[in-house]
Amino acid sequence: MIDKTVAAISTPPGEGGIAVIRISGPEAIVIADKSFRSYSGKFLSEIKGYSALYGEVVSENSVIDDAVATVFRAPKSFTGENTVEFSVHGGRLVAKNVLRAVIKNGACPADRGEFTKRAFLNGKIDLTKAESIINIINAKNEIALRISQAAKNGRISKEIDSLIEKLLELSASFSVYADYPDDEIENLNPENFHSSLDEILYKLKNMIDTFDLGKKLCDGIECAIIGKPNVGKSTLMNALSRTERSIVTDIAGTTRDVVDSAVVLGDTTLILSDTAGIHQTDDIVEKAGVDRSFQKLDSAMIVIAVFDASSPLDDDDRIIIDSISDNAIIVLNKSDLGLKADISAFKGMTVVNISAKNNQGIDTLSEAILAKIKADRLDSDDAVLINDRQFNCVNRAYESLYEAKTAMENHVTLDAVGICIDDSLKALLELTGRRVTNEVSDEIFSRFCVGK
Ligand code: GDP
Repeated sequence: MIDKTVAAISTPPGEGGIAVIRISGPEAIVIADKSFRSYSGKFLSEIKGYSALYGEVVSENSVIDDAVATVFRAPKSFTGENTVEFSVHGGRLVAKNVLRAVIKNGACPADRGEFTKRAFLNGKIDLTKAESIINIINAKNEIALRISQAAKNGRISKEIDSLIEKLLELSASFSVYADYPDDEIENLNPENFHSSLDEILYKLKNMIDTFDLGKKLCDGIECAIIGKPNVGKSTLMNALSRTERSIVTDIAGTTRDVVDSAVVLGDTTLILSDTAGIHQTDDIVEKAGVDRSFQKLDSAMIVIAVFDASSPLDDDDRIIIDSISDNAIIVLNKSDLGLKADISAFKGMTVVNISAKNNQGIDTLSEAILAKIKADRLDSDDAVLINDRQFNCVNRAYESLYEAKTAMENHVTLDAVGICIDDSLKALLELTGRRVTNEVSDEIFSRFCVGK
């Protein structure tokens, strides 16, 4: 039971149409009544949940601002507690003064994420839904938003809860076995046991497999633009990001290091890196830049390898061709100047002709990048893991269960198998928050902002 009533400004700082001050806890309506005078003369304590009064927020009889006060009654509120929200004019001062008045009348300042934490503690949401709220707030692109909304609507919880139920049944069978080792227990029949385990392992593995691509699509796909000096890498970077981030000159070797730029492409985000031109050189500084370009070439998920279409390929181009693999898209730039490059060198590769300077072929290149990312491998309405904590829990659950399967196959005692199943169960209970330490939940909610 939470006995403190807390308050915070729930809207972002700065100027805006309205600001919302939220009060939640057992005394929320009483405190709000002390801070508010409705124009109708009614008190907030007299009205039903989901209704509002228009009036003014006051502090020691002086008016702070006009306000609409909305009342939510427990348990039908976001936090599950009595809640009042004052909507006042936007701007830091008004909101601050309202918050001050509410605190003077008995509310305590809310910690980071305290409203969401209370929703969790009052059983309104589980941890996966709480975490999805941070992800919705932080979503940088449409895919991140859709994945987070699916999680908020219970996509991950539903999947995990059904696996928890199955594991609980298995765990119960093992407990019975420990007490009555001579009895025949149906679930412990090796065939049934293996098929139950395989089904759970399969579902856990599917979730694990969503993590890598899911996280990259949400946070940004690393995409390296490489090529020898002067082929138009920086011009292409600017065409793709539509800014002047990279310095475009006709002096070879102008970009001596990596320049990054985040660009929204379709539903996802690209982290574009304009790298130093790859060429054979004895200059130490240039060499360091070239080494970094090769590192980017190796680490990026997508490589855009740029060549000058208007001149024959040379040794530097051939070094690049030998270094790339099937995550690369060949871009033949300067195609406005005609084609002199020997395109047979790019047989079997994805090739796009562009003129970065004239902004031609950029849409085709964008489509080729999206096709290479293969974002459609992932259904954003599915249970997609994009959070490290959740991924680690599912991974732990998978590994423990796999151990249970191996132990069973190797005829290790059933007691030992039971322990592995319980470990797997523990990891899933921690994932949804049904069994979680205060330290873990405190850490999760400390990542929220004040007022959420
Ligand atoms: P980087 O060294 O590979 O980054 O090359 P830059 O982007 O700095 O471009 C080198 C030169 O090529 C500049 O003078 C650009 O204006 C020019 N350039 C870039 N793209 C094109 C293009 O599509 N057509 C033509 N004709 N010139 C281009």
